[in-house]
Amino acid sequence: MRRKLVVGNWKMHGSRPANAELLSALIGARPFAADVAVCVPAVFLTETAATLASTELRWGAQDVSPHEQGAYTGEISAGMLAECGCRYVITGHSERRAFHGESDLLVAQKAKAALARGVTPIVCVGETLAQREAGETEAVVKRQLSAVIHQLAHCASEIVVAYEPVWAIGTGRTATPEQAQAVHAILRAQLQAATGRGEAMKILYGGSVKPDNAATLFAQADIDGGLIGGASLKAADFIAICRAAA
Ligand code: PEP
Repeated sequence: MRRKLVVGNWKMHGSRPANAELLSALIGARPFAADVAVCVPAVFLTETAATLASTELRWGAQDVSPHEQGAYTGEISAGMLAECGCRYVITGHSERRAFHGESDLLVAQKAKAALARGVTPIVCVGETLAQREAGETEAVVKRQLSAVIHQLAHCASEIVVAYEPVWAIGTGRTATPEQAQAVHAILRAQLQAATGRGEAMKILYGGSVKPDNAATLFAQADIDGGLIGGASLKAADFIAICRAAA
């Protein structure tokens, strides 16, 4: 039985007072039956680490450099994230693929850099609406995941995968549980074939998860929790979603 995982992706939101309020509500709502983490803007990692250090809640970042160190102005290395106690880092979020031109190869290199420093990459894959309508969903997500599997080789079983259909992110439009489950099953089969450990790996769903749809999504056989954007910024909503993951 895979333990569920719920991860909040704060994106470029937050402020010291707002973060303190949100984290304190989360701490007060424990315990959860699922593992829970928040991926916060990098400048808030140290404070988040200090706030959550004595709890079982985990934290992470939203991006990482593929490089170990060097003259890469503005970048943050996996070693630095590890020093901040990060358990996770999101790689290949569709916003980074779309707005920062991240390729499948770069996403894979970032995932590799993270794992090398003991930070678990949450690798996002997902199709656009046009790709779905063209019947390309399976080919797109398999291609995205395959780049990571190829780069990581035998370590590929250590990642967390997040299926995030681009058309469902921040749009209020959620994949139906059946649509999400169908893609999760494809991804799990691909992971199983490549690593032999696919059955033990976590595959999260992300895309307009809310308190009222979380339980049905999480009840699907291959959905092991969620990557939550907008709703992770509202304490009551995020807590309700965490509770839906039992
Ligand atoms: C996300 O950004 O990863 C996400 C799933 O966003 P939202 O929940 O707002 O759709």
